[in-house]
Amino acid sequence: MPVMNASILPDRNAPLVVESVTLDAPKAGEVLVRIAATGVCHSDLSVIDGTLPLPTPIVLGHEGAGVVEAVGPGVASVKAGDHVVLSWRPQCNRCPYCLRGQPYLCDLANRMSLSGAMLDGTRRLKRGAEELFHMTQTSSMAEYAVVPETGAIAIDRDIPLDKAALVGCAVTTGVGAVFNTARVEPGAGVAVFGCGGVGLSVVQGALIAGANPIIAIDLLDSKLEAAKRFGATHAVNGKSGDAAARIRDLTEGQGADYAFEAIGNPDVVSQAYDSVRRGGKVVVIGVANMMAQISIPHLTLVLQEKAVLGSCYGSARPQLDMPRLLRLYKAGRLKLDEMVTRTYKLQEVNQAFDDLRNGVNLRGVLVFS
Ligand SMILES: [Zn+2]
Ligand SMILES: [Zn+2]
Repeated sequence: MPVMNASILPDRNAPLVVESVTLDAPKAGEVLVRIAATGVCHSDLSVIDGTLPLPTPIVLGHEGAGVVEAVGPGVASVKAGDHVVLSWRPQCNRCPYCLRGQPYLCDLANRMSLSGAMLDGTRRLKRGAEELFHMTQTSSMAEYAVVPETGAIAIDRDIPLDKAALVGCAVTTGVGAVFNTARVEPGAGVAVFGCGGVGLSVVQGALIAGANPIIAIDLLDSKLEAAKRFGATHAVNGKSGDAAARIRDLTEGQGADYAFEAIGNPDVVSQAYDSVRRGGKVVVIGVANMMAQISIPHLTLVLQEKAVLGSCYGSARPQLDMPRLLRLYKAGRLKLDEMVTRTYKLQEVNQAFDDLRNGVNLRGVLVFS
């Protein structure tokens, strides 16, 4: 039972506190991981502000990587010493969604995530006598985590863990949306709304898929410059007029074949819808609150056969997709080093979230010594 430091959200919108907590040993089918690094993601922020309504007090963090310290009974796919990326949607492998090959929709993992529990409905984290909630069976903003076996994906040991961590959320979500959800084909015109960690991953996925043009849209010039370094052929500042019209200009008047919304803003989804050609596809990745509604014109949906697709965790099968993405990294085709613009110690977690709110980093990562 490790005693460790963890970053706790005591209550909605409260500052995080770094405190000593205990972590129970892994049960059957679970793995104890010493966390090496964990990315600071907008979804953590969405838990802080209540957009994602998870119970508190909760240990945040879901974009982690580390080293397996111990395994519970029955674990076969990883062993002590293995380097792993954590998946925030560990699948049960039994529900209809898992059986259909859609583990990102796993019924059990989804339900247990909303109740802040492990897959068996119980918890492993305690502060004194008080039980804490888990974020998506990961809670990686802590020195150790107990995760389901299906949430720990073994990777090659020569990959730096502070870069591998990004594959735990942003990169799989963004690149997966291109490869798996949209299935972008070579030569397709792609527009990417929002150039944070996920949006830049969409840009990278589009480049690997052979898309052209790749049009990045953001409100910050610094993000647009980054998007160009990651493969965008054009950059449009959303403040400088009608982005959809500009995208049509850049695609011979027709509109993009695919538009990705990586912000979580219903108005931007409408812009993305306006920006695709007839028969084009809009892929919505950004998370908005439960009450947000998307408005699109009914008639064009029919007569122009546009499609609006949701994309959860890049429609990924983590056991297949994460090693595949890391092979692309090792081949120099997927940029991860360039995405990490600052690292923080666990004690600097509130600074890391302030920087995220202010768009300071491409990706900030908490690292553990
Ligand atoms: Zn399942
Ligand atoms: Zn995330």
